[in-house]
Amino acid sequence: MQMHSLLSGAHTFCRVALVLLFGLAALTACGGTSQPAASAPTTEPGATAVAGSPLKVVATFSVLGDLAQNVAGDLVELKTLAPAGADAHTFEPRPADSVALAEAQVVFENGLEFEEWLSDLFTASGSQAQRVEVSEGIELITAEEGEHDEHAEEEGEHGEFDPHVWHDVNHAVIMVEHIHDGLAQADPANADAYRANADSYLQQLKDLDAFVVERVNTLPAERRKLVTTHETFGYFARRYGFEIVGTALGSVSTEVADPSAADIVELVEQIKASGVPAIFTENIEGGGVTERIAREAGVELAPTLYTDALGEPGSNGETYEQMMRYNVETMVTALGR
Ligand code: ZN
Repeated sequence: MQMHSLLSGAHTFCRVALVLLFGLAALTACGGTSQPAASAPTTEPGATAVAGSPLKVVATFSVLGDLAQNVAGDLVELKTLAPAGADAHTFEPRPADSVALAEAQVVFENGLEFEEWLSDLFTASGSQAQRVEVSEGIELITAEEGEHDEHAEEEGEHGEFDPHVWHDVNHAVIMVEHIHDGLAQADPANADAYRANADSYLQQLKDLDAFVVERVNTLPAERRKLVTTHETFGYFARRYGFEIVGTALGSVSTEVADPSAADIVELVEQIKASGVPAIFTENIEGGGVTERIAREAGVELAPTLYTDALGEPGSNGETYEQMMRYNVETMVTALGR
């Protein structure tokens, strides 16, 4: 992050120098940092569609990729960086990802420091794309509100806010509106089609939210308690009336050390006191520590939930909608016993 700030600073300086000197010499001197600042809106030609060729769009991770696909239909060339099953917190970009950013006209990102690898990659790629942070406008939960997060504080690596906004279906609605706006602005010729696609998908999301509420309501309120590997269900809990008893990693990021023996003892006690019959692993990690905690607490290890990524093609979590339906069914079954 510090390197990024330095680069931004150098960029600002160069802009000032350009204004003052008007010279070709200044352009040459500043050539290395001539990209637009990371979050600045851009109106350069690179950010709009080229007539006759589809808009090139990047989504940073699989859940966002599916939302973008539903709005874009077959009108854009969409590339998703962190694929199904991948942990976007710890994702290691490949050279092809840098190329995709360099060629893109629009980049959709979650924001809230979920994709910590993105800004450096974006800058290094020289991309001129419009960056759209789809979590903008969502009422956020601060990371400190999470339970049992001493690890995160020690590591100091997570952001100020819980980034896992998509687990509340109403937030997906906001994300889809940002995606619509980003596409319509960059490719106005297809704005009507993006609006129609978005409206059709938003109706599906409305039905999905109603489905989750209906399924959750079959579970007595005192059984709506979650224990998972990391703090990914804060927004789900707030929207659908669950309590987060604790998590194995005690952090909104997976990029933290494994829990200490003392942390595990504490969580096992919390699990026993809560009376939950089952705890959950997540599709983005191995689940070893969570499995151990389930064993020590004497509770069931429930089927794996789709948390920060979609499932592989053919799985129960191939789309955002499938993932949400599968997660709630799995929770209701495991916690209703
Ligand atoms: Zn996460």
